[in-house]
Amino acid sequence: MKEGWKDLPIGCTIEKGGTSRDFKTGDWRSERPEFLKDKCNNCLLCFIYCPDDAILMKDDKVVGIDYDYCKGCGICEKVCTAKAIETKPER
Ligand code: SF4
Ligand code: SF4
Repeated sequence: MKEGWKDLPIGCTIEKGGTSRDFKTGDWRSERPEFLKDKCNNCLLCFIYCPDDAILMKDDKVVGIDYDYCKGCGICEKVCTAKAIETKPER
C-alpha cells in the first residue's frame, strides 16, 4: 500500500525539489523589461528591488537584465526614476 502523509515520520524532510538556480524561470515572462543604458544613473534601485536577482551588474554598474531568470514582474521599471527600464510585451 502507498504511504500517505500520516505515515511519514514526524520532522522528516523531503530531499527532492530544487532552487531557481536549477530551473530557468524566464520563460514565465509575458512582459519584457528593456534596459536603456544611456538613461541609467546607476542608483541600483532596480538591483535592490528585483525579486529574482535578475539585474546584471559588472564593476558595480547595472549592465542589463538576465532574461534566463527575469519573470517580467515590472518592479524594476516602477522603481526606476530615470526611466531607464521600459517594459514591453514579450515577443
Ligand atoms: S521585471 Fe521583475 S524579475 Fe525582471 S528584472 Fe525587473 S524586477 Fe527583476
Ligand atoms: S533603477 Fe534605473 S537608473 Fe537606477 S540602476 Fe536601475 S536602471 Fe539604472
